[in-house]
Amino acid sequence: MQLSRRVMSIQPSPTLALNAKADALRAQGVDIVNFGAGQPDFPTPKHICEAAKKAIDDGFTRYTPVPGTPELKQAVIDKFKRDNGLDYAMDQVMINVGGKHSSYLIMQALLDEGDEVIVPAPYWVSYPPMVILAGGKPVIVPTKLENGFKLQLADLQKAVSDKTKAIFINSPSNPTGGVYSEAELRPLAEFCASKGVLIISDEMYEPILFDGRTFTATASLSPEVYANTVTLNGVSKAYAMTGWRIGYMGGPAELIKACSKIQSQSTSNPTSIAQKAAEEALNGPQEFVAERNQSFERRRDLIMDLISELPGVTCYRPEGSFYAFPSFKAYYGKKFEGKQITGSQDLADYLLDNASVAAVPGIAFGEDDCIRFSFAISDEQIKQGMASVKAALAKLT
Ligand SMILES: *Cc1c(COP(=O)(O)O)cnc(C)c1O
Repeated sequence: MQLSRRVMSIQPSPTLALNAKADALRAQGVDIVNFGAGQPDFPTPKHICEAAKKAIDDGFTRYTPVPGTPELKQAVIDKFKRDNGLDYAMDQVMINVGGKHSSYLIMQALLDEGDEVIVPAPYWVSYPPMVILAGGKPVIVPTKLENGFKLQLADLQKAVSDKTKAIFINSPSNPTGGVYSEAELRPLAEFCASKGVLIISDEMYEPILFDGRTFTATASLSPEVYANTVTLNGVSKAYAMTGWRIGYMGGPAELIKACSKIQSQSTSNPTSIAQKAAEEALNGPQEFVAERNQSFERRRDLIMDLISELPGVTCYRPEGSFYAFPSFKAYYGKKFEGKQITGSQDLADYLLDNASVAAVPGIAFGEDDCIRFSFAISDEQIKQGMASVKAALAKLT
């Protein structure tokens, strides 16, 4: 079969592929510590599950309006107001089939052949393929560990061309754990607004913040930035609802209308039952979110202590999300049984085969020096896994 050039130009999601490999090894009885997880290890809270059961019992099982139920859209509007001080009207928000789908739709709605989208690296694995699938060109802008992997204004200015349509900003970040402070974000956002470069602000990890940090939504910076930003969020990470597939966004009405048109011709509405659950997540009790955040912070402290014991390894201290992204550059060029480790893919393969540890090679995020370790796993698993990593690294010569 002759498949399209479009599909041949992208790879399947490497993070999901790694999880599949770890699961397969585990099924064979190998005691794998999986640092690959891109989701909270907590269950979806009971009151949220109950809302879904009630939706089924009430017969809420038919098509809903394409951009989401009015009730869930209202809950999203209330959430943006309550948590972020953002005012969005009904025609400025929509519900999507997971947060991933929100950015996919934006790319489809925004890009013509050859249009450019700025993607600061390290990036979330799905941004570049989504740009490519829409006929656009991802312009990858590297950042540095010394700067917390945060984009610097001078680098942004150099990357913008007359073809630039948009930029992805993801804070708290997957994979680096970096969180932009208001002072770090403002110059970037104001520059983008002045150039008409749409900011796609991916705020999926908003409540997972450490050391008493507060969150600044990009769109809240100024009226000009608000008009030039689409805010992406969802229930997957905040409420441990990855399988329910509900994301949402708020932004310019014209863009939301365009995304809704595409959604109407592709997925139609997100699942009716999951929308009821998401409504309960946003409107219901929020205390457990902060409690879970404390667990993530404790695990952040634990994994950072253990990483600091690895000779030659440096790591930016995560300020949010549940990922650590240490650099293993010092080990590249070393050998094990005659085979040389040339980069993050080799080292991740080596750790899987020799330490029974699964972690995602940084090359998947556009930063080959590093490997991503999710700490959304138990303290015991973190200790066991990092001890194995330490022992395996010591065998490289
Ligand atoms: C997990 C994630 C998303 C969206 O996840 P969904 O499961 O599709 O809701 C979006 N952005 C980033 C950076 C993520 O890590």
